[in-house]
Amino acid sequence: MPELPEAEVVAQQLRTHLLGAQLNDCWVGRADIVREGLPTLSWYGGARLEGVERYGKSVALEFQNEGEHRYVVAELGMTGLLLFRATETKHPQHVHVRMSFTGGRESELRYWNPRRFGRLSLLDRAGLDRYRTRRFGIDPLTVPCDEFVHLMQARRGRLKPLLMHQQVIAGIGNIYSNEILFRARLHPNRAVNRLRGATIIKLYDTMQAVLREAISCGGSSVKDFFAPDGTEGRYKSRHLVYGKEGQPCPNRCGRLIRRLQSERSSFVCLACQKKEGDP
Ligand SMILES: [Zn+2]
Repeated sequence: MPELPEAEVVAQQLRTHLLGAQLNDCWVGRADIVREGLPTLSWYGGARLEGVERYGKSVALEFQNEGEHRYVVAELGMTGLLLFRATETKHPQHVHVRMSFTGGRESELRYWNPRRFGRLSLLDRAGLDRYRTRRFGIDPLTVPCDEFVHLMQARRGRLKPLLMHQQVIAGIGNIYSNEILFRARLHPNRAVNRLRGATIIKLYDTMQAVLREAISCGGSSVKDFFAPDGTEGRYKSRHLVYGKEGQPCPNRCGRLIRRLQSERSSFVCLACQKKEGDP
């Protein structure tokens, strides 16, 4: 948490509220929250926010100053939030960066991260390209279906860890992989190289449908996710299996949702999600 849908919601709100605004000051409370580029911090004073992109679970802000472009990339993975000024936070001591803006609909953007699994990076264009190449595989919302099929057919191993492997497919974590696999009727431990093409196409369609629906609901608020304006994501109410251990299968097959202990917990219906064969 946050995963792709939550990061996309963050990016959409930043575009709506801050695109075109000028960054006046950027306060960094602790130097170790900046992964790279801290000596360039002063460059950003007076720069204008020209674009906001999402890469995997990260959000990149593009600034322009006198024709030169630089980027601030915020990792949201696990516990990071980007918040506008009026949005209250528990534990304000975990606000590590404050950016003040003029000319936008919001005057401040804060980076809050209590567990510091995430970082900010200050990058030029080449640095951003390297950062993306190193960290992010294909984007599940924009990858063409045939490319997704080829990518899956070329891999070995189990299905759920592959869906969550950020350097292969960027943005899906434990919540959405569980929801996607239940809807696609695929067991998390399926051997990827034994999936038929038609099954992978169904997985692709399900993956996109789940992620798009979650974005339209503002994401899922699990473990303290809030959008920058403080709104909670409503997709949690549409979760079918995540966190539903012991509850009846939503397909009414008569079985209960089970929790499998693996490296991350998987929530499955062992009747509906087939370990072998086509769903
Ligand atoms: Zn079932």
